[in-house]
Amino acid sequence: MKIMINGKSYQASPSETVLQVALRNGIYIPHLCYHQRTGPAAKCRACVVQVEGMNGLQTSCNLSVRDNMKVITDSPAVKAAQKMVVDLALSTGKHDCLACEQNGDCELQDAAYYLGIEHPSYQVEIPDYPLDDSSEFIYVERDKCISCGRCVVGCNQNVVNEVINFAYRGFETKIVFDQDLPMGTSSCVQCGECVQLCPVGALIDKRARGKGRPWNLEKIETVCPYCGVGCKLELHVDTLKNEIIRIKGVEDSPTNEGMLCVKGRYGFDFVHSPERLTKPMIKENGQLREAEWDEAINLVASRFNEIIEKHGSDSVAGLASAKVTNEENFVFQKFMRREVGTNNVDHCARL
Ligand code: SF4
Ligand code: SF4
Ligand code: SF4
Repeated sequence: MKIMINGKSYQASPSETVLQVALRNGIYIPHLCYHQRTGPAAKCRACVVQVEGMNGLQTSCNLSVRDNMKVITDSPAVKAAQKMVVDLALSTGKHDCLACEQNGDCELQDAAYYLGIEHPSYQVEIPDYPLDDSSEFIYVERDKCISCGRCVVGCNQNVVNEVINFAYRGFETKIVFDQDLPMGTSSCVQCGECVQLCPVGALIDKRARGKGRPWNLEKIETVCPYCGVGCKLELHVDTLKNEIIRIKGVEDSPTNEGMLCVKGRYGFDFVHSPERLTKPMIKENGQLREAEWDEAINLVASRFNEIIEKHGSDSVAGLASAKVTNEENFVFQKFMRREVGTNNVDHCARL
C-alpha cells in the first residue's frame, strides 16, 4: 500500500506502523518509549502526528498504516505537542548533558535538538534519588530516568530475567530491582539489556564512565569469542589507546538481535590483560617456563604417544571448545578419531 507523509508518497506494508514507515524513509519523528525490540508502547506521546480524517493527534508508534493514509509529522500543532512532551521529560530530571555519559548518544537530547528546546521550561520538584553504584558493571542514575519503560520490557520479555519493574505512584514512581533492592544485591544477572535499551543516561556501563565520548570511539563489529551462539558485538574502541571501552549487541544481527549475556557485554578485560599467555609454557620441577611452539608440541606429542602405547588409544579423550570455529572443531574431532584413534570426543559446553 501507499501512504503520504508530509505530502510525499511512500510504500508501506500492512504490518507496519506509521512511525516505522517514517523512520525507514529517514523521516524523524521524536520517540522515547518505542524501540524496535520493545515495540509500541504509546506512553511517552512524543511521537504524535496528524492524520487526515482522524480527530486529534495520534501516536505514530502504535498506529497501523492504511492505504492512502495522509500523515503530517511537522505541522505547528504537531510540533507544539511533541515539544511539550519532550520539554516535560527534560524538566522532570537532572539533565546535565555536559557531564552525562550519554551525551551525544541520547534520544532525549536528539528530540530536544530537533524541537529546538534550549532549556527545560518547567520547574518540577523531583525526588533526590541516590546513585545506585552497587553492581559490578551497571551504574543507575534514576534522576535521569524518563520512565519510558523500555528496560522493564527488555528485562521481563526480551531476556526474561524478570528483575526490573516500576513501583510507587505519581512523582515517586521509579524503576526498581526486585523488591526495590540495590541493583547489586538484586537477582540481576548484569546482562546489560536494560542499558542498551535505555534512551537516556539513566542506566550506563559503569566501567566506560569518563573513558571517551561516543563520537570519539570507533565502532567495530565482530563476533563474541565466548560461546557457540556467536552473538554479534559492536566494540566501541579508543583507537589512540587501542582499548575497548564498551560493547553493545548489534541490533540487526539475526543471532542475538542486540541482546548479549554478561560475558559478551562485560567480559572483555582479558583482551588487555598483561597476564595473557602469548607463548606456550612448560612445567619443569613444579615451575612454569616459556617455550617455543615446536618444543611444546613435540613434548605433548611424545607424552601422548607414551600414554597411548602403554594404555591404548581409549585412555585419552579430547574436549573441544565453543570458543573456536566449526572448522577448527571439525579438524579437532578428525584428529582425535583418525590420528589418536579414539571416539572419546566431547565439548566444553557439556562440562
Ligand atoms: S540523559 Fe540525555 S538529556 Fe539527560 S543529561 Fe544525559 S545526555 Fe542530557
Ligand atoms: S542487567 Fe539484565 S537482568 Fe539486570 S536488570 Fe538489566 S536487563 Fe534485567
Ligand atoms: S531507566 Fe531508562 S529505559 Fe528504564 S524507564 Fe528509565 S529511561 Fe526508560
